[in-house]
Amino acid sequence: MNQSSPAALRRLTAWAVGPCLPAWAVLLGLALVGRLSWVAALASCLVVFVLMAALVLTRLADFDRVIRYAEQLLTNPDAPAPVLHTSTTAQRLLSGLTALRKLWADRREEADALAKSRQDILDSLPDPFFLLDRKRRVVSTNAAARELFDLEPQAARLAGRDLAGVIRDPKVLEAADTALALNRKTEAQFTLPGPVEHSFGALIVPLSATARDGTALIVALHDQTERLKMDRMRADFVANASHELRTPLTSILGFIDTLRSAAKDDPKAREEFLEIMLKQANRMTRLIDDLLSLSRIELREHTRPTDTVDLGGVLQATVELLDRPIKEQRTTLAIIVAPGLPPAQGDAGELGQVFLNLVSNAVKYGGDQGRVELAADISESRPPAMPGKGPCLKISVRDFGEGIAREHIPRLTERFYRVDTARSRLLGGTGLGLAIVKHITNRHRGALVIESEVGKGATFTVFLPIAAA
Ligand code: ADP
Repeated sequence: MNQSSPAALRRLTAWAVGPCLPAWAVLLGLALVGRLSWVAALASCLVVFVLMAALVLTRLADFDRVIRYAEQLLTNPDAPAPVLHTSTTAQRLLSGLTALRKLWADRREEADALAKSRQDILDSLPDPFFLLDRKRRVVSTNAAARELFDLEPQAARLAGRDLAGVIRDPKVLEAADTALALNRKTEAQFTLPGPVEHSFGALIVPLSATARDGTALIVALHDQTERLKMDRMRADFVANASHELRTPLTSILGFIDTLRSAAKDDPKAREEFLEIMLKQANRMTRLIDDLLSLSRIELREHTRPTDTVDLGGVLQATVELLDRPIKEQRTTLAIIVAPGLPPAQGDAGELGQVFLNLVSNAVKYGGDQGRVELAADISESRPPAMPGKGPCLKISVRDFGEGIAREHIPRLTERFYRVDTARSRLLGGTGLGLAIVKHITNRHRGALVIESEVGKGATFTVFLPIAAA
């Protein structure tokens, strides 16, 4: 006990006076009835008080230590427990306090672990999350949100700031306000500008009770860019496919009409029209065949083929299938297969289709009397688009025709994309050949690389994995 403290002195006096009262009453009573002199009675009272105070002082010092210990615990949970000297009651109080402190430390550890696991769970979720308080201020975020908004360096500073400091879209802010005001789930759509624009859906859910850290609202974002792109592609695809089919169909219907009326009795015109109708019908058949191939390949794109394919044989068979157009175009064709070329891991039918499309394009776009070179070899490295590491097979189809302008190259494998639509149609193209090549190489975990220079020709190189020995 701090003896100089007046409060402690007052407490000592108050504690000592109570127990002295019965003795004092007896002593003063004896003096009153004349059995004890007043001097002796008062001196005895003083002695009783001093003895009592000394007794209490030792006890009170222990209680005082316990009180000070309790006060320290408020600011320093690891404060050392005091050593007590006499009071067993104070000792019991101290034991209770120590047990309480341990319980409190355990609870705090549990709460810390819970908060950490909550953050770990949020961080492991792929969608960005924001936890907000009732005033729409950020309480915390998850790793995906920090990455998306590039918040990592200022994540700590973000806490306590309005959501508007991160997502400025008024639709999201309004949805968050509505969720807070009406205590119900709301949704909003917004786009994030940037080199590539991203479309997001925001789901905003109020918690049933405000958490201790102030969290009252969860804002979960979901990237919808891919889905919207797929929806658009699907709609474009249906529109393109219908258009591609309608063109020859309209032409056939027109000729049927002419054959039934104006050209009814003209055998020469009839022959001519029937020839055109046959060409258009063949074009429709090719288109339908290509559409069916594409959808079949798409369905299997996630299962990698496992057969062992001899590429020399596949290239030879491809060239034989194209014998007629090669002769018609008077194309010179060379096949160079590196000796001892290991087989590819793949599907012989699908790889046949890849080279059929590439070689027929090379013959078609290589021009009359053109030259086409097919070369198959091992490549020590893989192109960036091909998964995995180590050597692979490299098969290139090169022509020396008109070539392709640089801006078209990245889009050539899109369905129905053509540099010159009219020319492609005239040459019997469907605009799906390279899309099929791309899907098949993807299924094979390979890659397609296109290089070209206008006026100098084009080289389409297919990279494929080597079959395991
Ligand atoms: P298509 O049926 O029109 O040939 P593809 O998907 O096979 O469709 O090819 C898409 C487009 O790529 C073609 O329309 C053509 O413009 C261009 N292309 C493909 N191969 C070559 C090539 N070897 N030389 C020049 N252009 C080519």
